[in-house]
Amino acid sequence: MSEQAQQKQQQHRLMAAIRQYGGDVADIPFWEGCEQGVFLLHRCNACGRHYWPASRCVEHGDHDMQWVEASGRGEVYTYTVMHRAYTPDKKDKVPFVIAVVQLREGPFYHSNIVDSAHDEVAIGMAVQVVMTPHESGLTIPQFRPADD
Ligand SMILES: [Zn+2]
Repeated sequence: MSEQAQQKQQQHRLMAAIRQYGGDVADIPFWEGCEQGVFLLHRCNACGRHYWPASRCVEHGDHDMQWVEASGRGEVYTYTVMHRAYTPDKKDKVPFVIAVVQLREGPFYHSNIVDSAHDEVAIGMAVQVVMTPHESGLTIPQFRPADD
């Protein structure tokens, strides 16, 4: 198979997974990054402001937007502990933590806090990204307590 055909097949697979996960195909480069263990944000090169998901800059529109590698660091802005499994697939996962992480670059990212007891999660806790395989076929960013 040619490299171009392989790329096309890879994009097709990702698009199907993104739709299943409930994401937007405008974020394909982001999900490709996750598969490679790289956390990307969409940056306006005119002012340096970072965005997630893929966006137009509020000041400069979309003429100079680029996916760039980000720190993968941030802090817990707010969170909730889920004690009840509202869907059968969560039965073995409760309790788990859903959080809004404010990334170091500015944007907010909704995800889970992992590798931490649910009662040790706190607002302001420093976290770092950890890439996790998801049943949709995507690799998704979750966050765990930061090493330092
Ligand atoms: Zn801008």
